[in-house]
Amino acid sequence: METTVDRAFIRRAVELGDLNAVRVALYQQTHDPELAALPVAAKLTERDREVLVTKAVDWLEVNAGPGMPEEPSPTELRALMDMATGEEMSDLEFEARRDIPAFRPFPWYAQWSKARPELPEGFKAVVIGSGFSGLAMGIQFELLGIPYLVLDRQPEPGGTWSINRYPGIRVDTASITYEFSFEKNHPWTEYYAQGPEVRTYLEHIAKKYGVLANTRFGHTLQSATFDESRNLWQLDVTSPDGAETVEANILVNALGTFTNPRLPQFEGQDGFGGQVVHPSQWPHDLDATGKRVAVIGNGSTGVQMVSPIAEKAEHVYVFQRTPQWISPREKYGAEVETEVRWLLDSFPGYWHWWRYMSVAGLFGTHGFLVPDEEWQAGGGTFNPMSDKLRDDLTAYIRAQTEGRQDLVDRLVPDYAPFSRRPVVDNGWYRALTSDNVDLVTEPITRLTESGVETADGVVHDVDLIVTATGFDVVKYLWPARYAGREGLDVQEFWAPDGPRAYLGMMVPNFPNMFVLYGPNSQPLSGGTSLPMWYVIWASYVGQLVVRLLEDDASSVEVTLDAYERYNKALDAESSKLLLLQDYGAPEKNYYVNEFGRLQVNAPWYGPDFHRMCTQVAWDDLEIS
Ligand code: NAP
Repeated sequence: METTVDRAFIRRAVELGDLNAVRVALYQQTHDPELAALPVAAKLTERDREVLVTKAVDWLEVNAGPGMPEEPSPTELRALMDMATGEEMSDLEFEARRDIPAFRPFPWYAQWSKARPELPEGFKAVVIGSGFSGLAMGIQFELLGIPYLVLDRQPEPGGTWSINRYPGIRVDTASITYEFSFEKNHPWTEYYAQGPEVRTYLEHIAKKYGVLANTRFGHTLQSATFDESRNLWQLDVTSPDGAETVEANILVNALGTFTNPRLPQFEGQDGFGGQVVHPSQWPHDLDATGKRVAVIGNGSTGVQMVSPIAEKAEHVYVFQRTPQWISPREKYGAEVETEVRWLLDSFPGYWHWWRYMSVAGLFGTHGFLVPDEEWQAGGGTFNPMSDKLRDDLTAYIRAQTEGRQDLVDRLVPDYAPFSRRPVVDNGWYRALTSDNVDLVTEPITRLTESGVETADGVVHDVDLIVTATGFDVVKYLWPARYAGREGLDVQEFWAPDGPRAYLGMMVPNFPNMFVLYGPNSQPLSGGTSLPMWYVIWASYVGQLVVRLLEDDASSVEVTLDAYERYNKALDAESSKLLLLQDYGAPEKNYYVNEFGRLQVNAPWYGPDFHRMCTQVAWDDLEIS
């Protein structure tokens, strides 16, 4: 049906939109001082709000049309960013955040300092993995004109978004933050896109930017061995056509963090008469309709799938070992309205500022991680922000479960929010109140022929068991074998206390090799979406490869001294944070490894980590 864009339609669009984004986009077009004088959306009076909406509608009625605004000057950009949040930021924060609104399509990506030098004969980079970070890396090589090959064991690009196809899968941070700056205003149909749409977006990127043509699917890396005499990697790769050896001057591991599913083996599992499935291995023809289903686990995956499964299944048993803090997201599951789609397409700048506001909500998260001793001495539990969030989320649990004390008692965690990766509520709490859903918190003792037996001796009869039990996230660079200088095995190098890397990317004795989204790289705080980080890390690699080739060198490696210094500082920083303290329940957290070390996250304040990854400390590297 044809949409009539009249004044009423435009008004609906503006009112459905993010009013901070509306204000800044409009100010960028008009420089109307009255707009600058208004406060942020949360503080608008009714009258202020009417002024803003009317100004926007008036302007759009005359000026709406396609197009994106020019990049503002740094001074103007910073003023607009401050206006959007109502807060000033430091120079460090500005540097880290200035590309969130994504006026520049390719920020961070490395460039040649002069014309591209002649490359050594046969020079080639190999990227393992064609998910988000592998694509970001491929595009860096495209931009530099460096020959590269991407190998992926899957039959298509997309990485985790190609692999995971369980019911209910979707992004749990806003779709708009899942876009690369060079491919913006994707027509997402939902505020939080479902898995297949993310897959389509990534396929589109792979095709449009040339990476697909350089990718070989169905290829699995078995081992990588550094040849010191030639400064290159020998990669043993298998595919349905057999085994082959591929040579790489540069090896980039873009393997993803959630790669190796944790597949529990319960006693009696072989004798279970039904089907056991891990969400990452969901068979395409598996349908829970009419089935009795056990969902084991309440992490982001388990919580995402219970409600859609319960709508179809005869009965669902939800097995919870540890309660999680599970929070709501506005517009989670909602379609992007026609009016908002129009706003995105017809209001120049709105996309940029909505994206900025979508990320800005996370700028303060570091505050949840740092204890406040004074507050604790006065009777507080952790710090004011954290305690308030705990109380708000507890109230949310009560409301969602309609005050059912039997559920509330078992659902409220005894550790602080943000100790673990926050989980988003996809109607999980509500589903627990349905007649066909039971929450089971008795420990699982074994599987019987007919179902799941718990410590109280009850057998829960089911046809299907979904083990939403997570991933072996501490197994970096695994199961392939990596041998660096003098045949050193990377797992042996890491044996004392688990995987480590310099900036999450480089390991001494493993020259010309990089890991994207490697050990201790997942930013904990500071507000920059993961797709932006993939580009930042790929650009770091780009900078080093540019230097290598411009210097006519053949090997780049982090020094042992820099690696050790970095990790010492990282451990010291980690120890200050909630995640390693008692109230963070580190023993129950997959971010913490078996040695009690923070393993997955970068403990740094986001803008600090951004600086480390964008301003190369050349003295930490050996280039020869
Ligand atoms: P997870 O967070 O590690 O959760 C695993 C769950 O299984 C936990 O509840 C765990 O209990 C339970 N469990 C593990 N082994 C068990 C056993 N033997 N018996 C009983 N329960 C067991 O894994 P996930 O849910 O797959 O999520 C992993 C990560 O993937 C997330 O943190 C997130 O980063 C990402 N993810 C993102 C999205 C998205 O929307 N973007 C969606 C899904 C996942 P305990 O807590 O007691 O260990």
